[in-house]
Amino acid sequence: MTDPRVSVVIPVYDEEAVLPALFARLYPALDALGRSYEVIFVNDGSRDRSAALLRAQFERRPEVTRVILLRTNAGQHMAILAAFERARGEVVVTLDADLQNPPEEIAALLAKFDEGHDYVGSIRRRRRDSFFRRHASRLLNRLRERTTRIVIGDQGCMLRAYGRDIVAAINSCNEVATFIPALAYTFARRPAEIEVAHEARAGGESKYSLYSLIRLNFDLMTGFSLAPLQLVSMGGIALSAASALFVIYLAIRRLVVGPEAEGVFTLFGIAFFLLGILLFAVGLLGEYVGRIFQQVRRRPRYLVEAVLEAAPETGTVETPRSGHGA
Ligand code: UDP
Ligand code: MG
Repeated sequence: MTDPRVSVVIPVYDEEAVLPALFARLYPALDALGRSYEVIFVNDGSRDRSAALLRAQFERRPEVTRVILLRTNAGQHMAILAAFERARGEVVVTLDADLQNPPEEIAALLAKFDEGHDYVGSIRRRRRDSFFRRHASRLLNRLRERTTRIVIGDQGCMLRAYGRDIVAAINSCNEVATFIPALAYTFARRPAEIEVAHEARAGGESKYSLYSLIRLNFDLMTGFSLAPLQLVSMGGIALSAASALFVIYLAIRRLVVGPEAEGVFTLFGIAFFLLGILLFAVGLLGEYVGRIFQQVRRRPRYLVEAVLEAAPETGTVETPRSGHGA
């Protein structure tokens, strides 16, 4: 069995509502490419019937389908990494399971890749997400562009193509908390971006709550920039300089005008404001320290329960693995 030209990687977490529609559109779109391909589904510890549906699909198209079953929910990016470590294609395309990224756009992505780029990102032409989701993302995009050097037109869109070298570089990283498109961007020699269509979710609901969205963005910021830490220490320097001036002013005022007792609440106001900044700064430190801690603990990033894939000669087998992501 020769290596396929394209590997399509799809993380799946509780997507039983959309998987049948995904299979119905994905395979025809890939057959139409005229290139050899493999689809790697990663079941990210789904609690619904997703695993059973993936198993059935594997039995239907075993020659082009591989399924990695993770034991627990490791998160979208870790699930993609589990597939990256096993992908055989020259180009690896990532895609969401919910059909928000139309599989038909893979052709456009590959066309751009063939122009000699080693990484092709994508920007959603017209985003079909909730009002809140759109605006939260825009804010976070700005923040990221200021704090890291990574230019991603649209960080939320996972329809992307990665060259084999980029995937190998990402695999060598061993980071416990990461954001794959940003990592790819730091390794790419000739990155490019194209516009792709975006659709409303075909079914089910978004797996990202506000909380997990904030966690993901902390991964992105802390993983690729020390600017937030530096900002805090710069702020600290500015604040202590300003309060030193204030103390000098108060001392002079005391000598000239006499002691002052009013404006106590203003003082409280300022004190609580500074307290808030201080708490935030400590929390921010914690975000970094926590990630350092996770990294040094060296626990596996995800647990693979089984891999369903066709053996080279002898039809289909299931290879149970108790392996783990180093
Ligand atoms: N996903 C995953 N693990 C998670 C959360 C999400 O594998 O812990 C998958 C999910 O099944 C989908 C993709 O990641 O294929 C994007 O998730 P979702 O559509 O919920 O995110 P959104 O489009 O709202 O950003
Ligand atoms: Mg989605």
